[in-house]
Amino acid sequence: MPEGDTIFRSARALHRALAGKIITRFETGYAHLARVHDNRTVTGRTVERVEARGKWLLMFLSDDLILLTHMLMSGSWHIYRVGERWQRKRQDMRIVIETADWTAVAFTVPVAEFHSATSLLRKTVVPALGPDLLKEDFDAAKALNKISEHSAEEIAVVLLNQRVMAGIGNVFKSEICFACGVNPFRHVETLSQRELEEIVHTSRKFLKSNVTDNAEGQIVTYTGLRRTTRSDDESARLWVYGRPGQPCRRCGTAIEMRKQGVQARTTYWCPACQPLERSAGPFR
Ligand SMILES: [Zn+2]
Repeated sequence: MPEGDTIFRSARALHRALAGKIITRFETGYAHLARVHDNRTVTGRTVERVEARGKWLLMFLSDDLILLTHMLMSGSWHIYRVGERWQRKRQDMRIVIETADWTAVAFTVPVAEFHSATSLLRKTVVPALGPDLLKEDFDAAKALNKISEHSAEEIAVVLLNQRVMAGIGNVFKSEICFACGVNPFRHVETLSQRELEEIVHTSRKFLKSNVTDNAEGQIVTYTGLRRTTRSDDESARLWVYGRPGQPCRRCGTAIEMRKQGVQARTTYWCPACQPLERSAGPFR
């Protein structure tokens, strides 16, 4: 059975290949999906994002259509260049989503359903997301409670958990910890209330300053280059992410890098500004 991190990696790969792209071809071996396609054409929609929630993979398409799949024992998603030869038999194909460059194929996924945002909420087996950092009604107290439920876990791992708070990716994870002077490997239970509040505050600040609203004010998208420093220099827009061995922008110590958590996501930090024993305190 695919583990959570396998599904996470599939979702990440699908997201990288398909997000922002228009679907040019949809094919399915499932009648119930084909019926939805007949009524609410899948082709022509944009893939907004792909994410994993527990063992579920969710593909969000424009105009409130969500493709939900569960791999169970044998299912898998593959990504091919358009026209490339598939590694599994065509008879195992259940869903094809194609864009100008990529063909995503779901093989023998036993569970596949189309949902709207509303019907997805009613499907209680799909884990709900934590408070969305980009929503106007973001509830910081609820987010702090959710973080506290993971007291024995490392803070940077918890920041990536979309069921705790929704919105933080791997770049912002390291940047937020640095800006708060918090070592990313510290367990949540060692953090003070003030440090936790600072982390939530900074998370929201960084995310909000890196999105733009579209004309309808509905969909938020990242503005290409993520930025957390206030430098006008394009090459100095991040504090620590992607800078292993380079001098800390604050103290000059070499930035360190290590894989972290079961998903082995890369974490960057300054050992001087973010000591493991205690916090150096937030700075901006
Ligand atoms: Zn430093």
